[in-house]
Amino acid sequence: MKNKEIKILLSAPRGFCAGVERAIEIVKRSIEKYGAPVYVRHEIVHNKHVVDSLKNLGAIFVEELAEIKDKSRPVIFSAHGVPKAVPTEADNYKMEYIDATCPLVSKVHREAENLHKAGYHVVLIGHNNHPEVIGTMGQLPNGAIDLIQDEHDVESYELDQNKRIAYVTQTTLSVDDTKGIINALKKKFPEIKEPLKEDICYATTNRQSAVKNIAKKCDMFFVLGSRNSSNSVRLVEVAEQAGCPHAELIHSESKIPFDKLQSCKIIGISSGASAPEVLVKNFISKLKSKFKIKIDEVEIIKENIVFKVPTKLN
Ligand code: SF4
Repeated sequence: MKNKEIKILLSAPRGFCAGVERAIEIVKRSIEKYGAPVYVRHEIVHNKHVVDSLKNLGAIFVEELAEIKDKSRPVIFSAHGVPKAVPTEADNYKMEYIDATCPLVSKVHREAENLHKAGYHVVLIGHNNHPEVIGTMGQLPNGAIDLIQDEHDVESYELDQNKRIAYVTQTTLSVDDTKGIINALKKKFPEIKEPLKEDICYATTNRQSAVKNIAKKCDMFFVLGSRNSSNSVRLVEVAEQAGCPHAELIHSESKIPFDKLQSCKIIGISSGASAPEVLVKNFISKLKSKFKIKIDEVEIIKENIVFKVPTKLN
């Protein structure tokens, strides 16, 4: 007998963004076109469920092109983007490659390149070692771009006074934390050139705003997504910063904390841009096996963005 009732505030938009949909479609269509196996450099998107399902279709995931045994097979570059050296390396190996970099990441690459050509020293706001950051840094020659991770980095950052400075950002950062870093940069370098349009992408912004909108009302907040998914981890932080006392990332292997849920009346649920909706459905089904569940979906904006796959896969 289920006595306890829990209300779920289901955050929307959540889950897959246009860049992730496109990247997954690129892998599927490449397997259709070229047959299996097709290699993918790095996890196509940061989600174990997605990666496992593509492995079942015939994708082989590697971290570097050197690991690919049969270089007559095509290779796909992940949605996070790659340094310029990677397509060059593929050309050297005479490998066919398909670039699944999200167009919104490519936009930041072109921005950084254009700023460099125009004589600016570029600062990238982002997280060290994230593949998107490695890809964006790798658009420019060594020494032409520096990484800033937080306001402390801004404090200690020194630049030759004769150099003009500009910044770009990773696409999946916390909107609020990034504002603080940008303000610190502007204070230190009042002439700093800003991107014409924000680099943090629409999907990151919308998912964070949707979580922020409901998190205060929730006793607990759950974000479905993988630990290495930057935007999923950011959603957990946003929920806590917005006033939810306890937010957790629920990744494929983690268990539902049923004991903690006993004291909850309202919980919030969202999912990162690389997390498929089936993870949300499965999570709610498990909750339904223990509790009486009421669901209220709270949508702040409708998304209708679609990115085309490269024409050679049409
Ligand atoms: S989160 Fe944003 S930048 Fe990343 S793949 Fe999705 S739309 Fe593109």
